[in-house]
Amino acid sequence: MTVPVDRPGLPRPRIAIVGAGITGLAAAYELAGRADVTVVEATGEVGGKLRTSAIEGIDVDEGAELFLARTPEAVELAAELGCRLVAPATTAASVWVGGKLRPLPAGTLLGVPTRVVPVLRSRLLSPAGLARAGADLVLPRTRLPADPSVGSYVAARLGRQVVDRLVDPLLGGVYAGRADELSLHATVPQLAEAARGRSLLVGARAQRPSPAGGFGAPIFQTVEQGLGSFASALGRAGGARILLNHPVTGMERTEQGWRLRTGTGRGPRGTAQLVVDADVVVLALPGAPASRLLRSCAPRAAAALAAIPYASVAVATFVYRDVALPAGSGFLVPATQGRLIKGATFASRKWPHLARPGLSVVRCSAGRSGEAESLQRPDRELLGVLAAEFAEATGVLARPVAARLTRWGGALPQYRPGHADVVAAVRESLPRGVVLAGAALDGVGIPACIRSARRTAGEALDAVPVR
Ligand SMILES: Cc1cc2nc3c(=O)[nH]c(=O)nc-3n(C[C@H](O)[C@H](O)[C@H](O)COP(=O)(O)OP(=O)(O)OC[C@H]3O[C@@H](n4cnc5c(N)ncnc54)[C@H](O)[C@@H]3O)c2cc1C
Repeated sequence: MTVPVDRPGLPRPRIAIVGAGITGLAAAYELAGRADVTVVEATGEVGGKLRTSAIEGIDVDEGAELFLARTPEAVELAAELGCRLVAPATTAASVWVGGKLRPLPAGTLLGVPTRVVPVLRSRLLSPAGLARAGADLVLPRTRLPADPSVGSYVAARLGRQVVDRLVDPLLGGVYAGRADELSLHATVPQLAEAARGRSLLVGARAQRPSPAGGFGAPIFQTVEQGLGSFASALGRAGGARILLNHPVTGMERTEQGWRLRTGTGRGPRGTAQLVVDADVVVLALPGAPASRLLRSCAPRAAAALAAIPYASVAVATFVYRDVALPAGSGFLVPATQGRLIKGATFASRKWPHLARPGLSVVRCSAGRSGEAESLQRPDRELLGVLAAEFAEATGVLARPVAARLTRWGGALPQYRPGHADVVAAVRESLPRGVVLAGAALDGVGIPACIRSARRTAGEALDAVPVR
């Protein structure tokens, strides 16, 4: 039996949230005043993939650096918490192909062109590639399996070059994924919508996003003090008890609900093992740790979660003195170019709050799905390769005055064809009183994680047993 959200006369439900990433913190914030909430976090800080730290005295994000402003969740929440929002000074990116930086055509729908002129001007596609893309307008409707990969569908309509030079690099930048492996429906629902008609070019044009605030409004925004400060502000505002350095190592059913056990944490003096009792548990975790906790109490859900593949990525931050960066906000590198670097952001050019006289801050990323072994080399070597490839692409030959490497192992879930079935299987087989939220299931972007947290907070309250 479940109870509605308000429980007049009844004690407040105890809800334990495992994981203090943006999802767990947003769920705690949503539950504030409606439940006694305890957030249990393995590491010594909140935020998960939202982490900011100083390099050469400048606060630069180590993980996520921005959020989509077209959907309201993140922008509104950050503003509600009093965070100062910043829009990028430029979003004009390039693609490094054949040893040249060529402009990424403006106005694509995740790489699928919606306007002809920018594609012609960029010279990113060869004449044959352009002609093949245009054939979409006359080709008969493509017969699709129920959930095709993004790459197979786009290649069928527009040819391989559009996949390799536009769609795949963009998917690599956002999801660390490969176009030929990612589900069209789960990864890029707007493209799936565009695929309903016969022509993808016509469908994509109709789906072209119009920014929420009207044309001219930024598509992305970030927080001036860094996204780590957004996470910290959210943690404080939620008012939950947050236990840091307490990795949850087991969960078991009790008469009242659930009991979590923690291992010894990695705090300065280690942390004691704890037991946390709760009516309902929210797992705001990536697939692998969620699967480990569910193994004994929900083996089917655990197996389904374990089957979601993850990509590992590394972010190198370099600071250069007195160099001239190429125009724009950065560049993407197609996998076909055989480089380790998959993209670079000219952070101090893109974000006005990171600009300092004489200094250029750059973030280079590496790591695509299936390439985990390419990151398995010492930090110095990885930094060296990324700096050298950055130099080759941009002509910036100076040595950086500061460099830092952040590794994100098993960071980004890959929604393969059939992902919706996996999600359904996980949800159906969760035991009563356990709910799941976060990037593993319903979207990897920060707004999607906040949306998932809100939905889960409601589910958690609904799952509270009557005592
Ligand atoms: C390098 C990088 C760049 C990105 N850039 C962007 C971007 O610019 N914009 C964007 O929208 N998205 C971006 N993303 C994606 C986005 O940041 C993530 O999908 C999102 O932050 C995931 O949040 P989460 O709370 O679901 O999970 P996480 O951030 O992974 O949080 C999970 C938390 O659970 C904790 N935990 C794990 N196991 C246990 C355990 N057993 N017990 C207790 N705690 C545990 C972890 O320590 C962590 O703090 C990026 C991701 C990466 C890796």
